[in-house]
Amino acid sequence: MRAGESGALSLGVDIGGTKAHGVALDAADRVLAEVAMPTQPTEAGIRRTVVAVAGTLATELGVGPSDFTTVGLGIPGFVDHTSGVVETAVNLQIARTDLPLLLADDFAAKVRVENDVKATALGAGLALGTTRDLTYVNLGTGLAAAAVSRGRLVRGARNGAGEIGHLAVEPAGELCSCGQRGCLETALGGGYVSRRLAALGLDLAELGTDPRPEAVVEKGRMVAALATALTLVVIAYDSAVVVLGGGVLRGTGWLRPTVEADLRRRAADSPFLAGLAVADRLVELPAGTPAAAIGAAVVGRKKELRARHTASEPTVVGG
Ligand SMILES: [Zn+2]
Repeated sequence: MRAGESGALSLGVDIGGTKAHGVALDAADRVLAEVAMPTQPTEAGIRRTVVAVAGTLATELGVGPSDFTTVGLGIPGFVDHTSGVVETAVNLQIARTDLPLLLADDFAAKVRVENDVKATALGAGLALGTTRDLTYVNLGTGLAAAAVSRGRLVRGARNGAGEIGHLAVEPAGELCSCGQRGCLETALGGGYVSRRLAALGLDLAELGTDPRPEAVVEKGRMVAALATALTLVVIAYDSAVVVLGGGVLRGTGWLRPTVEADLRRRAADSPFLAGLAVADRLVELPAGTPAAAIGAAVVGRKKELRARHTASEPTVVGG
């Protein structure tokens, strides 16, 4: 039993480009209530969305929004996790906003904020029971990863750890939003893929079985890029578990088995890759798991989590 946590009620809200998911967790990490509703863009819209999510959860639990003892948010874009300032959340029509300040009058607890992929890594760990060592790879509109090592998010010196989508692998490839050409994200990111598939009159699910040469090429491109991305995170982080999630994965039942087969083929030709055993580490985030919102709730309780882990094992302080 953890001391001092009786009655703890943690709010976590994942603010997605189109939908916001919220959960309320108790001190034992149980999901007490869950809700999803459309995200309203812009600063004012996001405040309304978070307040509505919190209000719905609170009503369901018979409490008020001020009864949440911790509040955590996950949001796409560049997030300064120490200040809660979010920049370039393009889908949400935000250039820069201070979320803790924006929501200061709406909650009694301090609002903590984290990038959505990093938050999901924390939530995936809780959902899968492997909170100390994992890498989460998000195949969504973009491609990014977040690693958890010794129970802590790996950020790096400039918060750039895990931005694997912008590894350029095709020198003459498609122009990426980051300014480079041929990034992994241009091969695998939902935005880029959807545009190319629209030209073929296909959706992601249909791509798996379409026999036309151009469809086979597109499928092979996605599989190769994902195999490279997964090998990259294993080489970089060597986590025991690599968790796959995100809208592109959910939209393609064929992608995970196909990439697994591709990784095993690559390993058959290379003792080095056979030793990495990338395919053996893959786990899919179970559909319907509100990992992003759960992770956001964990972000809100950052201090408790840190204290719990530093008690049993020394870790680097700060960051
Ligand atoms: Zn890029």
